[in-house]
Amino acid sequence: MSALEQLRSLIAYHNYRYYVLDDPEVSDAEYDALMNQLRTIEAEHPELVTPDSPTQRVGATPLERFHKVRHSRPMLSLGNAFGAGEVRAWQQRIFRIIGEQPLEYVVEPKIDGLAVSLTYRAGKFALGATRGDGTEGEDVTQNLRTVKAIPLHIPVLPNVDAPTLIEVRGEVFMPKDQFAALNRRQEAADEKTFANPRNAAAGSLRQLDPRVTARRPLSFLAYQIGYLEGAKLPQTQWESLQYLRQLGFPVSEDARLFSDFSEMLDYAQQWLAHRETLNYEADGVVIKVNDIGLQEALGYVSREPRWAIALKAPAEEAVTRVLDIRVNVGRTGTLNPYAVLEPVAVGGVTVQHATLHNADYIREKDIRIGDTVIITRAGEVIPRVVRSLPELRTGGEQPFRMPERCPACDEPVTQPEGETAIYCVNAACPAQLVRRVEHWASRGAMDIEGFGSKMAALLVEKGLIHDVADIYRLQASDLLPLEGFAEKKVQNLLEAIEESKNRSLAQLITALGIKFVGATVAELLAQHYSTLDDLLAASPEELEAIEGLGPHTAGSIVDWEQREHNRQVVAKLRQAGVKLGETGRAPAPSPGDRPLDGLTFVITGTLPTMSRKEAADWIKARGGKVTGSVSKNTDYLVVGEKAGGTKFEAARRLHIPQLTEEELRGLESKGI
Ligand code: NAD
Repeated sequence: MSALEQLRSLIAYHNYRYYVLDDPEVSDAEYDALMNQLRTIEAEHPELVTPDSPTQRVGATPLERFHKVRHSRPMLSLGNAFGAGEVRAWQQRIFRIIGEQPLEYVVEPKIDGLAVSLTYRAGKFALGATRGDGTEGEDVTQNLRTVKAIPLHIPVLPNVDAPTLIEVRGEVFMPKDQFAALNRRQEAADEKTFANPRNAAAGSLRQLDPRVTARRPLSFLAYQIGYLEGAKLPQTQWESLQYLRQLGFPVSEDARLFSDFSEMLDYAQQWLAHRETLNYEADGVVIKVNDIGLQEALGYVSREPRWAIALKAPAEEAVTRVLDIRVNVGRTGTLNPYAVLEPVAVGGVTVQHATLHNADYIREKDIRIGDTVIITRAGEVIPRVVRSLPELRTGGEQPFRMPERCPACDEPVTQPEGETAIYCVNAACPAQLVRRVEHWASRGAMDIEGFGSKMAALLVEKGLIHDVADIYRLQASDLLPLEGFAEKKVQNLLEAIEESKNRSLAQLITALGIKFVGATVAELLAQHYSTLDDLLAASPEELEAIEGLGPHTAGSIVDWEQREHNRQVVAKLRQAGVKLGETGRAPAPSPGDRPLDGLTFVITGTLPTMSRKEAADWIKARGGKVTGSVSKNTDYLVVGEKAGGTKFEAARRLHIPQLTEEELRGLESKGI
């Protein structure tokens, strides 16, 4: 099988799981990434496009267990746009066909459910069908009758006459809260749970027994007239929506009409940014040309109408190829493998490198040089390789082995017992020094403005810096001869370095880059010790006694202190005038100061008076812990306005008590 055929059959398999079984195996982002790759290949080689390619077809063949229904007109999919540029390109494509002219647009939420067609004869609901493969769907009339939002007779109010025949198209969907409740019930009854509200809606509608559908919380919104007899056909999409509403169909309250392209785009983007707060899943907005005459003139191409486009949030996953696997050396000497990728756009930026974490990760995920892989940037700055797609291998892929010598200094590497990381332990390794210096100057550490990774690499290479304390020995006369270092730049840099001498103790501890001591642990240590000297004089037992500090971290701090090189660095820092904490010991916090000790909180939504960061600091200052996601170890979910996302659902599922900001503040005085 050629690589292209393999990709098509992989997509066909996921289509089958999604559309036929309502039980997807991969996330939509992953599926979309595969589809995008197929589209890219087909756009480059149009001669390879076959009529049965997934890019040419909608959905999947209807199930045999239902009667088939032929649609009066095909039920289509929608083209996608990611970002304003692609919506503009869509408008330009339209102008090329119908000439440049003022256009009206309707923006509607793109509800993530399944499309259905409802036929009413003389005002009576007569036939209801799924989209199926776009040409033929499944007769699910009996099941649709159980959906309360679908009228059985129209008009619902006697304000208009019923048309003799009308086919209405719209989306059957499951509200998010109902979806969560359904999954809870399924779980309690030991039944299969659903991957997402869309699959839950599809699975609920495509039941052989309508009584099962009746128990499922389905809803409906209408967005199109497929066919009409016995009434005047609306001339625009906007009028169609009004007419559907008059007949008694639910129509989205968020639909808007625009005659200005920029205003339309603003609304669409704003809506997109707020969609998480709604009680239904929406994966984008649909932008439609309002004039139905123009819609007909524009027609459709393969499976997508030219007159409409779905604007979606930028994809956070993409498919690409691993061109090479390389290794860099971190500041603690860890060998960090990363993938060099065929450049690909993810979440609005072009990505060429992605982390592979460590050797175990590469082995477990079986990621090879030459592999096609899924990468993600979801919520993270550094992209990572999620997994490889072995189905798409061609035979030339190469497994990767970690080097036995450090790629920067060529010294042998070691792997400590029980650790996944492999280390270069050469204290003089230049790659580690560059990383240590870079880390020292970074924002969460000593925060030296204008001192980034390039600067660190240059100063180490020029022999001006041998340890982090050398940063404070730099003189204008060292820097001015360097290329690109004008007087102003040197002055600014030296000022920034000077200013960094006064950072807080927590920042200083972070900056030292002690293994296992990141910003959070540094914060904790700074609460217990008021100077660096006090911290470094602490015994392992004393450190371990600190709540939240394990033996690894305690051991690592002591080990760091015992190295002669590090002692010298501290002495040099002192000599250079870097503030090493306040003298005079801070009073040890009494139990009364830590009323939230031992409690773990998660914060969601917008709180009335504090930002989430402020709330987290408030909790931590009282001894509590704040984590980013809800688990069974969470004690309380602090909820603000517009809460309703995954944290909220998880807390409900796990029966975790919720607190308002006011109730949270109340915990302090209760001293629980
Ligand atoms: P689509 O969902 O991208 O767009 C077309 C559909 O949008 C229409 O059929 C209609 O149901 C819906 N829609 C909602 N509101 C609308 C409105 N106001 N006006 C018009 N249409 C509206 O297209 P698709 O071809 O059905 O499916 C692609 C989607 O399914 C992707 O999101 C993809 O990720 C997902 N998918 C996932 C898997 C998987 O394995 N995870 C497999 C197949 C498909």
